[in-house]
Amino acid sequence: MLDLRRGYEQIRAEILTAIEHACDSQQFVLGEQVAAFEREAAAFLGVPRAVACASGTDALWLALLGIGIEAGDVVITTPFSFFATVSSIVRAGARPVLADIEEATLNLDPEQVEKCLRRRHNVKAIMPVHLYGQCADMAAFARLGRDYGVKIVEDAAQAFGASWHDHKAGGLGDAAGFSFYPTKNLSAFGDGGMVTTDNTAVAERITMLRNHGSRRRYHHEALGANSRMDGIQGAVLRVKLKHVARWNEQRRARAAKYDRLFAEAGLPQVKPLATAPPAYHIFHQYVIRVERRDDLRQFLAARRIGSEVYYPLPLHLQPCFTYLGYREGELPVAERAACDVLALPMFPEITDDEQQRVVSAIADFYS
Ligand SMILES: *Cc1c(COP(=O)(O)O)cnc(C)c1O
Repeated sequence: MLDLRRGYEQIRAEILTAIEHACDSQQFVLGEQVAAFEREAAAFLGVPRAVACASGTDALWLALLGIGIEAGDVVITTPFSFFATVSSIVRAGARPVLADIEEATLNLDPEQVEKCLRRRHNVKAIMPVHLYGQCADMAAFARLGRDYGVKIVEDAAQAFGASWHDHKAGGLGDAAGFSFYPTKNLSAFGDGGMVTTDNTAVAERITMLRNHGSRRRYHHEALGANSRMDGIQGAVLRVKLKHVARWNEQRRARAAKYDRLFAEAGLPQVKPLATAPPAYHIFHQYVIRVERRDDLRQFLAARRIGSEVYYPLPLHLQPCFTYLGYREGELPVAERAACDVLALPMFPEITDDEQQRVVSAIADFYS
């Protein structure tokens, strides 16, 4: 599915030097490496401020608190994402409202969101997710934000370097959360996350919240949490940041290769997802929709080909969210996607031969 060693081998010497510097500095938590990473990541993304934290999950929670989400507020998001998208809303004290997704991209559908906005009055924010590395329709969400007076928080955990109409994810809303979990397209050597925003007051508030709600040592104005990034992670991320644009280009080339191979194979049982024209998709995942998905997965596994299902159970049907009162059948596009999506091996260094083997095996399964 993902061979992290190949990417590591290319930058091993650089990484080890950076870690050595971080160790020599003896700054273990935050410190100069993290501060430099925040500045460099903000510059790369074209946003005024970036605040590093301990995980993508925390980044989303901090972003919500940072823009002023409070107990009793409603935040609209997608049911078709990683768990943390919705759990961060609950953790911020708000109530998640889930709207269905677009058939073509599987991203949150602005029309469905607008229906929710018309029905509910205490909506404070919308949280679109840039699923698989493709931005949600951010022009539409920006319009909804203006028309209904609600904030936009991007879940950009899968989309470092992705863009919409030439504006990078992280700068398309009021705040955004990124994840540097080791499988993400920009990844640390452990957990890590970051919030971006164009609002200085929001950035300052998040900087306070990630450090136990403290601006001045041992004075706490809010509860906050311990959500600081380690110095070593900052050092690793600074090295990888220099390579991520090239890796994203390679992912795009690999995705185009899969598209060609599937077109040549002419398999009616396999449908690649669409890329919206304004999107610069960085293919954190390459996902197809297929018939008899679970049998196909077993068939591939027997040939030692990895595949994954992101995500097999939509969030509105998760046991811990039954109190939200959703029923099966209520968000049909997401529910269908959960039954037929399949993510194929995708990383910058995957070879032509390996991709050919994946597609040939899928063709064999259907023949
Ligand atoms: C990975 C991910 C997160 C959470 O990030 P962590 O760093 O693992 O906490 C949130 N949302 C989405 C869409 C993700 O893919």
